[in-house]
Amino acid sequence: MVLTRRAFLRRTGLTAASVIGLRQIAAGASAKTLLSEPSQLADATNSLKPEGLMAGIESANVPLRDWSGYTNYGRVAEAFAPSSDAEIVGLVKACRQRGQTCRVVGLRTSWSLYWFDQTNDLLISTKNLDQLAFDTEAMTVTCGAGVTLETLHREAWKRGLTLATSPAPPWVTVGGAVSTGSHGSVMAGSMSSSLIRCRLVNGQGEIVDLDEHHPDFDAVRISLGMLGVMTEMTLQLQKGFRLTLTQEPFATQNWEQSLFESGPMSFLHANLLEEPSVVFKVDYDSSNDENHNDLIKGTNADGVPFVSGPAHLVVMNYAPPSPTIAGSEWAVPLEKFQSVLDRFKADNQLLPAKIWMKKSAGESALLAAGSDPDKAYVQCGCYHPVNGNQDPKIIEQMVKKVENIMLNNNGRPHFAKLIYMNSDQMRSLYPKLETFQEVRQRMDPDGVFYTKRLKALFG
Ligand SMILES: Cc1cc2nc3c(=O)[nH]c(=O)nc-3n(C[C@H](O)[C@H](O)[C@H](O)COP(=O)(O)OP(=O)(O)OC[C@H]3O[C@@H](n4cnc5c(N)ncnc54)[C@H](O)[C@@H]3O)c2cc1C
Repeated sequence: MVLTRRAFLRRTGLTAASVIGLRQIAAGASAKTLLSEPSQLADATNSLKPEGLMAGIESANVPLRDWSGYTNYGRVAEAFAPSSDAEIVGLVKACRQRGQTCRVVGLRTSWSLYWFDQTNDLLISTKNLDQLAFDTEAMTVTCGAGVTLETLHREAWKRGLTLATSPAPPWVTVGGAVSTGSHGSVMAGSMSSSLIRCRLVNGQGEIVDLDEHHPDFDAVRISLGMLGVMTEMTLQLQKGFRLTLTQEPFATQNWEQSLFESGPMSFLHANLLEEPSVVFKVDYDSSNDENHNDLIKGTNADGVPFVSGPAHLVVMNYAPPSPTIAGSEWAVPLEKFQSVLDRFKADNQLLPAKIWMKKSAGESALLAAGSDPDKAYVQCGCYHPVNGNQDPKIIEQMVKKVENIMLNNNGRPHFAKLIYMNSDQMRSLYPKLETFQEVRQRMDPDGVFYTKRLKALFG
């Protein structure tokens, strides 16, 4: 059962009432009443209008489905959409008091649905955490976790600034992108590596300010909302730059050269069945036209079509295909990737005809996909269509098959994509998981943010 915002208000109305000085009435209500189902509780709480802390918090409808519709609970939950730290503190403290789990949700583009637990979660939407401020001298942005990448990209570009890397879709939140370790194709870490400061409401309802020198910061960077709600984040930006993208065929066997020697941000769509594959060659735009703020499409001197423009419009502005897709993505150490490809080619049953390949470097986050900052990784995505798929079961079967292969090649999963592993497998992949768990238990001793689903994965 999902506890709707209204039901939560009814239940916590007693708590809120006590906050606003109705302690006596609340004390008069029996424990049985406090634990009753919402319908039974309605009469008891109608006389206690929750005009306190909780009552002023805006609501948001959150459809309980991922972006693609692959995982779909077929319902819409009424969530809280707080606009201040104080409101979030109130919600977390109320959850803690009630022994209820709480999840924070951005725009639900992640397939894994780890932001939701189907049982008794209280959902907090970040949609009203939308403040945005730039320090152009320090080249940083400080923003609410609910700001979308689209807004951040646009406003940064106006100030001559750009993110070093970001996932392709601009229709996701900064909080979600950082918390899942989302990335582009560049020899650097994920967006979480650009995080230099953040404010978090932890599981005890405390507001914690951390910067990159804080000993817990590498736990916070990629934490899937397990440590609490990141409310405000400061990210390091770069001087704005322009890129040019062209597409070229290549032989799949030359994947390493095509990925690592075809420009700073190139990525591949590699064909497992037939040649050729496609390299999306992304290089710095040599025209360096300062007035060039839109995408320009044309044909270069060799007759090859190109797109050029501000970095975010060239590689961070992905229009989703139709039909929608679902699947998994793994980061594999460069030296292991040929072995993955050999396994894929030897038995391509269940796999898509083409896989996506990007590049990255390791980073310091405890739950990062790549652990060694001096090492190169191949980010490999395998997806099947969801809409119109004759047998959506193939998606789960494919993900499990890919997991098997990646586990044998020191791969680590992208947390925004589908994962079916168990906690023993996770422990074997993340030697720093224990350190992460220590931080989590300190920040959230009662497991307010640690749902059953997360526990099943992280142990
Ligand atoms: C079509 C498509 C293309 C994609 N392309 C890429 C790509 O190129 N590269 C890549 O790396 N990824 C890619 N992704 C994954 C995508 O980047 C993530 O799904 C996305 O960033 C998550 O943002 P969201 O706002 O949807 O977060 P949600 O899906 O709502 O949440 C994701 C997780 O973050 C946690 N979270 C959200 N906000 C906060 C907060 N304020 N504090 C703490 N925890 C929080 C949630 O609890 C949840 O665990 C793609 C996804 C899609 C659908």
